Amino acid sequence: MSFCPLCNGISDEYYQCSVCQGKMEDGGKIYDYYDDYSPYMEIDWNKLADGVPNSAGKPECVHLLVCPRCGNEQELTVHHK
Ligand SMILES: [Zn+2]
Ligand SMILES: [Zn+2]
Repeated sequence: MSFCPLCNGISDEYYQCSVCQGKMEDGGKIYDYYDDYSPYMEIDWNKLADGVPNSAGKPECVHLLVCPRCGNEQELTVHHK
């Protein structure tokens, strides 16, 4: 089974802001910010997690990290465990 530790809220990684050295917070998956985001994509990915994780699709998701102190934003590719 493959899942994203950040999406599931169990990541204990510390992401440091490159600007102010503060702690970056998870702003959610970056796909959610696109207008043409399709919920069907999630269903496909869930199927992949059950069966063939290494063929099509990516066992990872891109998150947007936001620094609450200085407003810096950074993309982070999270590899699923
Ligand atoms: Zn994720
Ligand atoms: Zn910052």
